Amino acid sequence: MCGFVGMVSSGPVTQSLLASLQAIQHRGQDAAGVGTRDGDRFHLVKDLGMINQALPPRAVAPVGGTAGIAHVRYPTAGAVSTAEDAQPFLTRRPGILLAHNGNVTNVPELAAGLRKEGLHILSECDAEPILLVLAQALTERRPSGHDVDDVIAAVRAVYRRVRGAYSVVAVLEVDGQETLIAFRDPHGIRPGVYGTDGQGNWMAASESVALDVLGFKKIDDLPTGKLLVMRQGQEPLVHDIVDAAPRRCVFERIYFARPDSRMEDGRVNRNRWLMGRQLAREWAAKGFEADVVIAVPDTSRPAAQAMAEELGIKNREGFIKNRYSGRTFIMPDQATRMAALRLKLNPIAEMFEGQRVILVDDSIVRGSTMRRIVEMLRELRPAALHVAIFSPPVRHPCFYGIDMPSQDELAAAQMPQDRVESELGAYFGADSLTFLSVDGMRAVAGPEACDACFTGDYVVPVSSAERAAIMADRRGR
Ligand code: SF4
Repeated sequence: MCGFVGMVSSGPVTQSLLASLQAIQHRGQDAAGVGTRDGDRFHLVKDLGMINQALPPRAVAPVGGTAGIAHVRYPTAGAVSTAEDAQPFLTRRPGILLAHNGNVTNVPELAAGLRKEGLHILSECDAEPILLVLAQALTERRPSGHDVDDVIAAVRAVYRRVRGAYSVVAVLEVDGQETLIAFRDPHGIRPGVYGTDGQGNWMAASESVALDVLGFKKIDDLPTGKLLVMRQGQEPLVHDIVDAAPRRCVFERIYFARPDSRMEDGRVNRNRWLMGRQLAREWAAKGFEADVVIAVPDTSRPAAQAMAEELGIKNREGFIKNRYSGRTFIMPDQATRMAALRLKLNPIAEMFEGQRVILVDDSIVRGSTMRRIVEMLRELRPAALHVAIFSPPVRHPCFYGIDMPSQDELAAAQMPQDRVESELGAYFGADSLTFLSVDGMRAVAGPEACDACFTGDYVVPVSSAERAAIMADRRGR
């Protein structure tokens, strides 16, 4: 879970990149960085923390240049322990700035191969091996003066050697011109878009909201299996690299992306709404009845609205979310855990008292939060409390860039598939639990979605050694 923005422009880009980056702060809060190409030199500033903390005005003031990249990081592979682990990354030979969002699954294999070539990975971040493979392939063709064919060959090398999910932006000189390139892994698992302001300036970003901030119009999603080459004042060039079926992360649309972002198949908000409508149909088919639909804020609101509309009942706000409660802290006992939950999410009692409530949430991962929410709401004496989740049960970890726990920590993976709703519903203390079916999700998300965390169908194979290494990394954080 990371976010990037890249820009090539006729004017200075740093302040625009930072403004745009704010729109995707939700994609990572552990580190932030900005790098630019400024004539013959590069600037790079990165540090731990959120954008305002990692990139204060004094630090970024000297960062000039008309092409650059900014990044926010939440690590899904490797720890962020020092500023050196933050993105973007820079190579001196040849000069390339690079950032990515995703999870490279074969880092140990890449590290061993690169070592044989005399190159050492110095950070804990998987953007670095992507950059080294790209740089190595470019310099093998020639030391400098690269053209687009060289870049195509280098991206082919990345596709050959780097496995997993990655959406990449890089700034380098190509054909003697300042150039922003972008490419996604062959299946386009992680998101990415590009657009223009109509003045010959170009941007690429993880989500379209980063373009909206600067008044740039989204042209399209970053094409899968292709290289996009953007230069100021010129139309982008698109080059085929490999032909592979798209498999875009459905969890972005369920939980992670901003609702006002537009991804391949429309507004994220609309996707959540359609999943809620489908869930309502599946819920009603069980013969249940309710008075009111209440969302666990914020992600679930469109799905709750759709459920209420489909079922012909009320939709009400039932919680006040405290935006200032900060990070979850370690809570030693049940009483303080409940206090911490109430600090984040306080229920409006009269919305629940005596009502038959459908409580809507986006997903169940460990299940501990939902258990505490139900326990808290039981004190308000609702006539019935039905939990409805607008995604299927998460039964498998994600190895493609969303930070999920291992399988033995996933609540739904601990019980037989056909008894998940009854057993987990009882564990929550709910009157019923309904998940959106896999077929229902696919009816909305389409056949080009990655849904491996729900189905176990991993489009890029991940060996057991790679799985163990990724999970060990996550446990180490
Ligand atoms: S496994 Fe799940 S979270 Fe990971 S990329 Fe696929 S759909 Fe997204």
